[in-house]
Amino acid sequence: MSRIRYTVNWFRCASQATRDAIVIACISVPLFVAAIELDLFDKLSVYTRRYEHFELDEFLLVLLVAGFLAIIYAWRRLRELKAEIRQRRAAEAMAVKLTLHDALTGLPNRHKFERLVTDEIISRDRQNFAVMLLRVDNFRQVIDRFGHALGDSLLVAVTTRLSELYSTEVVFARIGPNEFAIKLGPIEDDEVVSEFSRRLITTLADPFVVLGCEISITVTIGISRYPQDGTTAVQLLRRADIAKRHLATRGQSKYGLFEKGMELTLSRMDSIERRLSAAVEADEIIPYFQPIVDLQTGRTVAFESLARWYDLQLGWVGPDQFIPIAEECGQIVKLGDKLLRKACLAALEWPTSIGLSLNISAVQLRDPTLGLNVLSALGEIGLSPWRLELELTETALVSDVPVARETLEILTQTGVSIALDDFGTGHSSLRHICDFSIHKLKIDQSFVRTMCKRHESEQVVGAVIGLARGLGIVTTAEGIETKAQRNFLRDLGCQYGQGFLFGRPMPAQAVLGYLADEAKANADARSIPA
Ligand code: C2E
Ligand code: CA
Ligand code: CA
Repeated sequence: MSRIRYTVNWFRCASQATRDAIVIACISVPLFVAAIELDLFDKLSVYTRRYEHFELDEFLLVLLVAGFLAIIYAWRRLRELKAEIRQRRAAEAMAVKLTLHDALTGLPNRHKFERLVTDEIISRDRQNFAVMLLRVDNFRQVIDRFGHALGDSLLVAVTTRLSELYSTEVVFARIGPNEFAIKLGPIEDDEVVSEFSRRLITTLADPFVVLGCEISITVTIGISRYPQDGTTAVQLLRRADIAKRHLATRGQSKYGLFEKGMELTLSRMDSIERRLSAAVEADEIIPYFQPIVDLQTGRTVAFESLARWYDLQLGWVGPDQFIPIAEECGQIVKLGDKLLRKACLAALEWPTSIGLSLNISAVQLRDPTLGLNVLSALGEIGLSPWRLELELTETALVSDVPVARETLEILTQTGVSIALDDFGTGHSSLRHICDFSIHKLKIDQSFVRTMCKRHESEQVVGAVIGLARGLGIVTTAEGIETKAQRNFLRDLGCQYGQGFLFGRPMPAQAVLGYLADEAKANADARSIPA
């Protein structure tokens, strides 16, 4: 009994060809045996001889030809079937590929990436690896300006650049319109991830030439690590996203690791995003003004406009929080224009010797109408362009060179001056200072803060001041909080300073009072006999 079952099972498992051969043999052998037993051929021969009109040889010939034709037909049909099967298999493979891969770049998609990460979690046996989310920051603007075809070509070009970093330890995927996911591992420590992030940023730093246009991109990279930041693919991706959203865009490529507590602040960021456009519309975001002082005379020469927002539910929201969100959700151009007009109106009340400094974000600088908008605001309000200085970061300058160059040319020709903000933190390069007519360098406060403690910071500050002097450019040091810092900078030859030592950002109504107090203090100082 068991032998029969075994045979039946074997038959079921055998290939189609083997099964066909067995079936044919099972039918043809008994037929053949029966034909012999019944003397079928003898009977046929006798019959043929008896009935003259029946020709056996012709009958056999017809059978032979029919058999031959049947073989040719079967052979051709088999070939067709094989081709059909091949096509169907290819279509199936393509369908699987399409459901697991991104059609544009050919990279794995989110679904496949999650699978790969899950496989890694199962197989790694708690070995560390990292999940990174890389966003191309200015992609929306690229699409708005150049269209979707160029956007697609840019993404393909980005993928090609990323492929320079392929290795057995790296998996790239495209999981959103302008978002790539990366699995890196195994990793020994966070330094490996940081080092890889820096390599990613450097690889994508040079401009892309796509369909005849030169385009620079900045990227933001959020990182989570297995197992400390999450133990499932979804958790790791979410936390990498949280880390990414915590990085202010600021027109500069950045990376950051997930930290505990980030999730809480993320819900605040969501609330900011929800309330921002209403706040811009309702003029709730206003400029405050921080004095910029001549380090030799101690007199205020200008004020920097710094945006402030008080929301009844959120409390004070700092520009570091809402400016990047405004950049991302497209509100920055409108907000920037409103702040410019408010700040110019305030400056109209000040003595004409006092200048106004205004921060311009990278996204604003990419707007080809910026130059004319600034000039028309100045004209309508009646503020001289000579009193206005725009503060730009270096990364903003290089993010769309032709547009930036044209805007700056329009503005500087009319007397507006240009300062390079946060100097020393971006891709500092002498080329930018010479290429664009820069009037001022603002030394970043991170150098000023550590100046009296770290020798390297002192050297950087000294070198920047020397470099600027050589090029005939003035310098402002930011974040001066102590007299020691002020004296040190003044002795190095830095012309201007800004920081809590001189004054915190204040509302427009407080500026005239501040200037009056300063004038009085100076007069008092002069009247004290030496
Ligand atoms: P920033 O342009 O580098 O501005 C200087 C920041 O340093 C300001 O922060 C200022 O309040 C702070 N600060 C000034 N002196 C000191 C000091 O002595 N010590 C310390 N610790 N900090 C000091 P704030 O106002 O929070 O602005 C942060 C950044 O937000 C600004 O950096 C600027 O990049 C951006 N921002 C502010 N207002 C605007 C705006 O209207 N438009 C744009 N696009 N960006 C803005
Ligand atoms: Ca500034
Ligand atoms: Ca600054």
